[in-house]
Amino acid sequence: MLLPSSNWLRRAPLDHLDLDWLTQANIEVAILRLDQIDPLISGNKWFKLSEHLKAADRAGAKGIISLGGGHSNHLHALAAAGKRFGFPTVGLLRGHPQDTPTVKDLQAFGMQLHWLGYGGYRARHEPGFWQPWQAQYPELQPVPEGGGGLPGAKGCMPLKAMVSAQLSGLGWNDYDGWWLACGTGTTLAGLVLAEAGEHRVYGALAVPDDHGVAQQVQGIVQEAGSVDAGYELLDASRGGFAKVDPPLLEFIEQTERDSGIPLEPLYTGKALLALKQQVDAGKFTQGTRLIFIHTGGLQGRRGFSPAT
Ligand SMILES: *Cc1c(COP(=O)(O)O)cnc(C)c1O
Repeated sequence: MLLPSSNWLRRAPLDHLDLDWLTQANIEVAILRLDQIDPLISGNKWFKLSEHLKAADRAGAKGIISLGGGHSNHLHALAAAGKRFGFPTVGLLRGHPQDTPTVKDLQAFGMQLHWLGYGGYRARHEPGFWQPWQAQYPELQPVPEGGGGLPGAKGCMPLKAMVSAQLSGLGWNDYDGWWLACGTGTTLAGLVLAEAGEHRVYGALAVPDDHGVAQQVQGIVQEAGSVDAGYELLDASRGGFAKVDPPLLEFIEQTERDSGIPLEPLYTGKALLALKQQVDAGKFTQGTRLIFIHTGGLQGRRGFSPAT
């Protein structure tokens, strides 16, 4: 078994997020700290993996093979899970051998790495891509890039119950919606499925419009036989995925100073700044209560800042 039979789905803490611009607008935000579920495993990538791991268990697989880049939060969570629970992992990497902090962790966690080059990596959606890998690693179950698809979304559905169970601790009896960063939209799709229209889900897009996030969310929700409703996507990409600008970095620094909560510039920093812009623009009425998801990704920011 890849997963121990009980107690592996860690509860992420839910805390008040106290920031001037929220207080002034009379908007309340609670932050769900997926960056704090475990010393080794962090973020939404762990939840996205959980149903893939269960499926691998059902299929009798002994371990997992998956793919990503040299800063991949997904491969990091997978390698960490393999290390923690004692199953073998193989990572197929984009590009040529690199020594990023992420790659060093993957190796330290015992993940077997193969570098595919850029052309080889682009072939990942072609039929037959997995065949030679499955021949080489017959006991490992392939998991798609980023842990996406319907299983990835299903793995994020328990976040709703995790929040509901902690509302009274905040002095809240309900909330109005979720706010989170989106890359593929898989995590958001999981919340849309869990909520089934009960609370609105706002997705702050870390990627430009042409990445087809809306279609991917729609595809997952339809595959689950649910209704494609109750969510809204907003651009938060600031000119492109992983594009960073001085106002964003200043905002992150200021927020970290004021709240003590670490953010990274690709997802969580952009998502929170986009929320501030919408709050400043008057999108939410006074008294609105939102759940902001800290989706993790802090391990990846080491590649962007020499100081950490
Ligand atoms: C991958 C990732 C996301 C995006 O998740 P999707 O399910 O692809 O939308 C958001 N935040 C962080 C930190 C991530 O690593």
